Formats: sequence, structure tokens, C-alpha cells
Amino acid sequence: MSSDVAFLAEFSGGSPTHAALELAAGAAELAAQSKGSAVALAYGPGAAKAGALGAAGASRVVVLGDDPSPAITHGAAAAAAVRELSPIALLAPATPNGRDLAAALVGLLGLPAFGPVRAVGIEAGRVRTEQATLQGTVITVSEPTDGAEEPAIVLVLPSTFTPVEGGSGKADVAPAPASEAGALGAAHIVESHPAEAAVANLEEASVIVAGGRGVGSADGFVPLQELADALGGAVGASRAAADAGWVPYQLQIGQTGKVVKPALYVGCGISGAIQHRVGMQTAENVLAINNDPDAPIGEFADLFVVGDLFTIVPKLTAEIRRRKGR
Ligand SMILES: Cc1cc2nc3c(=O)[nH]c(=O)nc-3n(C[C@H](O)[C@H](O)[C@H](O)COP(=O)(O)OP(=O)(O)OC[C@H]3O[C@@H](n4cnc5c(N)ncnc54)[C@H](O)[C@@H]3O)c2cc1C
Repeated sequence: MSSDVAFLAEFSGGSPTHAALELAAGAAELAAQSKGSAVALAYGPGAAKAGALGAAGASRVVVLGDDPSPAITHGAAAAAAVRELSPIALLAPATPNGRDLAAALVGLLGLPAFGPVRAVGIEAGRVRTEQATLQGTVITVSEPTDGAEEPAIVLVLPSTFTPVEGGSGKADVAPAPASEAGALGAAHIVESHPAEAAVANLEEASVIVAGGRGVGSADGFVPLQELADALGGAVGASRAAADAGWVPYQLQIGQTGKVVKPALYVGCGISGAIQHRVGMQTAENVLAINNDPDAPIGEFADLFVVGDLFTIVPKLTAEIRRRKGR
């Protein structure tokens, strides 16, 4: 096994995704601990020109394919690359595509898998991961068993690492070793179209205004969208709001939704159930607006405003617009 740290780097529309940039930073951090190199396994449109990932932390790039086919079709090429590189760890983003490819690697190569993790490091040549389990109430630390000589596949949650800014490195780019795509290569995209405008990329938003059952209806989300717009942020939701059909499930935050880490999270009419909390507890600042002074969210919010959200949210929006001069 080498001391290199590999990572899956998805490209879309000619550029690396945010998840790829996060993992490039993470792999570079881990490679410094293992005294190896960070190696990207790049796929998707633009991957052939992935040398720019050097600025994000990669030393080398292995191109699995640069066509827009589903990630899973690159499974055999990824397996061939992992076999040849034999990295100490392969980081995969805990996104639908990352999970698909990680599962293919585990199946094709019989490798041990960890995650989804919220922290990973390499200590004395051993991969060590940290995972929140039992709805975030228990933190589990895991590492490969003694004598394990295979690369560890590690699924990494969004926002675990922060992309490098202003880097100037360049990475060497090489094609993946020859492989037979096999049955995995048969998957193809039938149709692809942009998601609804409302479905913002929550994982990347620096401000999130989230609504829960207290919002009461789809129309109730209009003032929340206005506040999000005034703050340059995105709208999110609790599962109760998504289950009610007021917003699409892509906006759901929590255990069975997205894990977010904005600079500011504004929770409106959300009680703060543990399953919601595990998705937003790493927000830097939490503002909660709730008409129940005993709502659990008040126990962990940085600022807890007790009152009717339909009175407070429009006032907040008006004040922000006034201060921004619009
Ligand atoms: C296996 C499992 C997985 C789950 N996964 C998730 C998940 O990923 N994400 C998630 O969110 N939940 C999840 N849940 C559901 C979770 O347990 C809660 O039921 C849910 O988060 C509650 O949503 P809520 O806070 O919007 O609703 P409620 O708990 O009903 O809270 C509504 C709040 O709105 C307040 N309110 C009402 N009217 C107003 C008003 N006019 N102004 C201000 N405040 C008002 C009320 O005081 C109340 O506190 C999961 C549950 C299970 C069992």
C-alpha cells in the first residue's frame, strides 16, 4: 500500500464540483499526515483538463472519463486506478454519485468502507474516522482492523473540509489504466434538465432561511424566500414542511435530508427535533424564530426570538433591505 490519499473528483459543465474542491483540500491535508500525495480520480465533463485541481490541493490527476455519463459507469476505471495506486485511503463525497462510485469500488475490490464521516485523519499510518451515529447522540471513532493492507474507502459528509482559496499548484494529468467497463458501463442518462429554480444548492449556501410546520403552507414560504433573497441566501425546510408538500424534498435539512454548514441559519417555525438538528448543528450562527418559548430549538440557538414568524420575518426583511439601501 502506498502513502498516497486518493479522492473522487466529479466535474460538471467543465469545472470541478464544490464537493471535489472540498475533498481536494481534505486529501492534501491527509497526504501531509501520511507523507504521500493527494491523487484525484476525476470524471465528468471537463475532467480531461483537471490539471487545475492542483491549485485545490491535488498533486496528480487520473482521468476516469470526461463524458457526461452517470458516475457509476466509471466504476471499472476507478477500480483499475485504485488497484494501481493502492492509496492508504480513497475519499468519496457523500453525494448520490459519490455513494454510487464508492459502493462500486467496495463491491469490485472488496474494500473496507467507512462513513459517512464528519472527520477523518491519518495517525501513525492508520486511517481514523469519526462518525455521528444514533441521530447524532453518539460519536463513533473507527479505523481499519490490525494488519489491514487494503485502501479504506471513506465517505465524507459535505463541509467536512474547506476548499483551498488562491492556490497556485499544478497537477500532472494521466488517463486511468485500461479496464473493461463491464455491466456498470451500461447505465445511461435518459433525460437531464435543470432543477426548479427554488432548489438551490443548500450545502453551499452561506445563509439559509429554513421553514417548518409553523410556516403552515406553501404560500407561507414566500416571506422566507424574501428574507433569504435579502440576505443573499437559500431557503431550506424541516421534514414536516417537505412531507406536507410545501417545498420539494431537496430542501429538507436533517438526518434524512441535507447536512448544511452555513454562516447563518435562520429557523422559522421549526421546533428543533434531533433529526433536524443533526443536519444544521454545525451552522456558525443559529437564529430561531418560534412562538413557543419552550421550543427545543431555543436551547441551542445563538439568538432565540419568541414570536409569530409572520410578524417578525417581514420586519427583518424590511430592515435588511433598508440597511442595504434597497
Ligand atoms: C427516522 C426519522 C428521520 C427524520 N429525519 C428528519 C430530517 O431529516 N429533517 C427533519 O427536519 N426532520 C426529520 N424527522 C422528523 C423530526 O422528528 C420532526 O418531526 C420534524 O423535524 C419536525 O418538524 P418541524 O420542527 O417543522 O415541526 P414541529 O415539531 O411541529 O414544530 C413546529 C414549530 O413551529 C412553531 N410555530 C407554529 N406556528 C408558528 C408561528 N406562527 N410562528 C413561529 N413559530 C411557530 C411551533 O411552536 C413549533 O415549535 C425525522 C424523523 C424520523 C423518525
